[in-house]
Amino acid sequence: MPRYRLLPTPAQEAVLRDHCGHARYVWNLAVEQHSHWRPGRAGAPGYLEQCRQLTAARAENPWLAAGSQTVQQQALRDFAQAMTAFFDPANPARRPSWRKAGRDEGFRIVGRGRQWDVRRVSRKAGQVWVPKAGWVRFRWSRAVPAGAKSYRITLDRVRRGSNRRGRVRHAIGRLRARETDRRKDWAEKTSTGIARRFDVIRVEDLQIMTMTRSAAGTRENPGWNVAQKAGLNRGILGSGWGLLVRRLQDKAPGRVEKVRPAFTSQRCSACGQVDRDSRESQAVFRCTACGFASHADVNAAINIAAGHAVTARGGFRDAGPVNREPHLLASLAGRG
Ligand SMILES: [Zn+2]
Repeated sequence: MPRYRLLPTPAQEAVLRDHCGHARYVWNLAVEQHSHWRPGRAGAPGYLEQCRQLTAARAENPWLAAGSQTVQQQALRDFAQAMTAFFDPANPARRPSWRKAGRDEGFRIVGRGRQWDVRRVSRKAGQVWVPKAGWVRFRWSRAVPAGAKSYRITLDRVRRGSNRRGRVRHAIGRLRARETDRRKDWAEKTSTGIARRFDVIRVEDLQIMTMTRSAAGTRENPGWNVAQKAGLNRGILGSGWGLLVRRLQDKAPGRVEKVRPAFTSQRCSACGQVDRDSRESQAVFRCTACGFASHADVNAAINIAAGHAVTARGGFRDAGPVNREPHLLASLAGRG
C-alpha cells in the first residue's frame, strides 16, 4: 500500500486530530458494546445497527455531530471488519481492543467523489479532499493508484524523545482536554440549572462504575443492565452521567435521590400496570391495560420522578415519605 506524507496547515492538522479522536471514541464505544457479549446471549449489534445508533447519537450530541459522519461511520466499519477477522476460523486475528490516545491513531475515508478526491497540483505535490478539512496537500512521492476507493490517515509513530513526539503528545493532550471540557461544561450548566429549579431531584441510579461488570446480571438483578441493547448513546451519556450526578450532589446536598430503574420502563405511569408488552419498541410505550401512550423514556422518567423503584408486580418498593413535590424528569435511553 503506497504511503504519502501529508502536509496539512495547522488549521487542517487540528481537524485531522479531531477526526482521529472521534474515530477512536466511536471505535472504543463499539469495543465496549461487544465486550458485553457472551455465548448464548443475543448478538451484539452489527454494523448497520451501530450506524443507526450513531445517527441517533449524533442527533443528541452536538460535539459528535460537529465531526464527520463519514469518519465516524468508517470507524464502525473498521471495527466490523476487525470482528470478522477475529471470528475467521481459517485465519483468526486478535480480538479488537481499546485504542489509546496517542497510539494507533487514525481514520479511514471510503467512497471517493462526494467524500473525497485527489488531484495533482505540481510535480511534487498533490491534494486530497478530507471532510471538514478541505484540500490537504501531500508529497506526491509516487503515482496514486487509479482505482483507489479508500485511504487511511494515520498519525506518525514518531521517534522517542524527539521534539516532534513531544509536540504530538501535547496536541493530543489538548484534543482530549477539549473533549473533556465539553462534557464538563455540560455537566456544570445542567447541574446548576437543575439544582436551582427543583427541590427534590431524582435520578436513575445507573451504577456506571459497575455497568460492565454487572452486564451479565446477578441472581437478584437478572441482567437489568445489559448495555449493548441500549446502543452507543448510552455509552456516551454514561460517561457524562456519573459526572452530572456527582455535581448535582455537590450543588444540592441532601436533595438528590437515586432510584433503581428496574421495571420503570415496563410500568405505566398513568395506571400502574407492569407489563413488558407495553413497551412496544425502544421509543414507544403503550399501556396494554389503559392505553396510555408516551415516549418510553418519558414514561419511565415519570415513574422515576415519582420516586419509587417498581417491583415486578407493579407495587412500589422503598417508598419513603414524600413531603415535597417531585419534579425532575431525568431520563436515559435504553432502560432494561
Ligand atoms: Zn396504564
